[in-house]
Amino acid sequence: MNKKINKYDIGLIVSIIIISLFFILYGGRDAVISNSKTAYIYSNNKLVGEYVLTDDYKDVVKIESETGYNIMHIEDGQIWIHEASCPDKICIYQGKISKNGEMIVCIPNRMFIKIVDENDESEIDFIAD
Ligand SMILES: [Zn+2]
Repeated sequence: MNKKINKYDIGLIVSIIIISLFFILYGGRDAVISNSKTAYIYSNNKLVGEYVLTDDYKDVVKIESETGYNIMHIEDGQIWIHEASCPDKICIYQGKISKNGEMIVCIPNRMFIKIVDENDESEIDFIAD
């Protein structure tokens, strides 16, 4: 007995091919790039946090120091300061960062965030150990 391939089977096969192609062309590449993107958070010149920025990672982090605090949000592969105790709020105005080498600095709280993307060859090393 021959099993006929109906239109639903064809639809399913076509869907699988399209999804596979999509992942080969975009998904795999994006996954590799985003998984290597890391936000390093320093407070008083000490590394206090390390977060891999992926599109689906979401977090709220509070960094406290002797001088105050900064609350940062991580979402959609971006990181930004949402709230801070500093008087100037410059760290908040610096907005969202997501690219290799980008930084947010809060001078009053002696805090900064730096993004390092290992897949980006144009990396500039801002921190000398
Ligand atoms: Zn600030």
